[in-house]
Formats: sequence, structure tokens, C-alpha cells
Amino acid sequence: MIAPSQRTVLDHDVHTLRVGSCVVHRIADMDRVKWPATAMFRALSGEALTQAAARTPTGMVDVAAGALLLSFNSYIVETPDAVVLVDAGIGNDKVRPDRPVWHQRNARFLEALAALGYPAERIDIVVNSHLHADHVGWNTVLVKDAWVPTFANARYITPKGELDYWSKLYETQGVETLHGAYADSVAPLLAHGKLETVETPHEIVPGLRLEPAPGHAPGMAVVRLAAGDTEILFLADVVHHPLQLSDPRITSNFCQDPAQANATRQRLLDDCVARGTIVAPYHFPTPVFGRFRRAGAGFEYLPL
Ligand SMILES: [Zn+2]
Repeated sequence: MIAPSQRTVLDHDVHTLRVGSCVVHRIADMDRVKWPATAMFRALSGEALTQAAARTPTGMVDVAAGALLLSFNSYIVETPDAVVLVDAGIGNDKVRPDRPVWHQRNARFLEALAALGYPAERIDIVVNSHLHADHVGWNTVLVKDAWVPTFANARYITPKGELDYWSKLYETQGVETLHGAYADSVAPLLAHGKLETVETPHEIVPGLRLEPAPGHAPGMAVVRLAAGDTEILFLADVVHHPLQLSDPRITSNFCQDPAQANATRQRLLDDCVARGTIVAPYHFPTPVFGRFRRAGAGFEYLPL
């Protein structure tokens, strides 16, 4: 029986899972943020929200407010070979006027990571599952008016399809690209020679793989950890919120290719059920480690 442990580190709610010779920590850059449900799922009726809430673990939907709770979960994956940060939150000081809660933040995420035992210099690899602004923020920090790589000793890895797509868009859209994140959180890595692109599937280190999961973003990938006979799948934005499980055709407003996102979601939900995979989604509020189970025409989420 695998059970996560929980503790609070500098006001950050950390959930830790040990599997075989690996340890996984979930630490959120932003935790349990209330979002209007229709700002995430345009077509969701009040009735559908009520029904979904009934099939979602307690505390993940606020039906009266018509809101969802969302987190932005980074994961530290420590294997015998490397310390890997899977997805990199929103970051500090980023100028995001069209996303007020992300705008010019002053959060203590790096301090909390250090207090957990992972000062920035201990991170060997940073994986960006995709390059949306809420997954790349801590790639860089502002030092004397310049954006520099936060994790000085790390290799940064992202799927080639992601960089190809967004770098091309940047040529025409400029600083608007990705709410500004391309310019302040991706381009500086390129300037420092820090960003590696890989074709998926790709083995990051033994036991840890990037696998293609396109749709939400053109080249998005998920990360699969195999430790002994246990697998953990870091789901990125394949599923944004547990309420999508009751009807996996519910697609977020932020998915670029909804049909492809739906196909990827359905494929991975089926696969996770068939393999008994433990899932670690990026945007689910806690508890974040769980499994999917079939329920009616859809699925449900069972936290560990
Ligand atoms: Zn996201």
C-alpha cells in the first residue's frame, strides 16, 4: 500500500510519495485558487457543475460560487540518477497584465523548495511539459533587470514540437507570445544555451520518460516514472480538473486543438485504468496522487 505523506513547508502544502528508490514531492506555486467554472469550461452549465461536484472528491468544486478550485503543481522527482523538476509554475516578477493573479508576483516558491531540501543548484533537470505561461514561470528569475536561468546547474528539456511552434509564433507575435512567457521564460534559456528539445517519446533518465500527449498544446508531453512495479504519470494539462472525468469530452477553453485534446485524454484515461497508474495532475487541487476508475460512461478520481 503506497500512501503519500503531507507536511507544510514555508506555507506550502507538500505531499510526498516514496516508490521504490524514488521520491516524489508535490509543491504548488499557487494552490487552491478559485476560478469561475465557465472561465475554464465555457460550455459547462450550472446543472453539469452540480452533477460533476457530486462525483468529485470534496473541496474541488464550489457549486454555490459557480467556481472550481485549481492548483499549479510542480513535482520534484528524485531518482537514483537525478533530481528533476517537472513543470515550473508561474514564477515571480513576470509581467502578465491580462492574468491579474499571475502578474508581478512575489512568492516564496524557491525558498520553500530549498527548505524542502532542494535549493535551486540541486536541480539537475527541469522538464517543461509544454510552454504555456503557467508551466515555465520558474525557468527564470529577474536579476538586475535581466531574466536568467533559475536553476544554474540544470538542463532544461521540452518537446521539440513545443519550441518549434512557439518560436515560430514569436517571430510574428513578439512579446505577446504566451502572455509574455516566451520572451521572459523561454528565450533567456535559449540565449544561455540551456534549453534542449527532444522528440517524444524520450528517456530523460533511467525510469523517467517523456511521452507525447498533444492537443492542449501542439507538442505537449506527459512524464512517466517507472519505479519497480509502480508507475506514476505526471499528466500536465491532459485533464485540468476532476470534473472532466464524469464526461471526458469536457475540454478546457485553453486547449488549442480540442479534438486532439479529447483523443489524448481518452487514450490516457483508458491507459491509466488498464495499468493501474498513479496519476499526478498539474492543476488538480490536493489530494493530487490518485488513480482513475471507470464510473458509468466516464471515470472518477480516487485519491490514494
Ligand atoms: Zn496549465
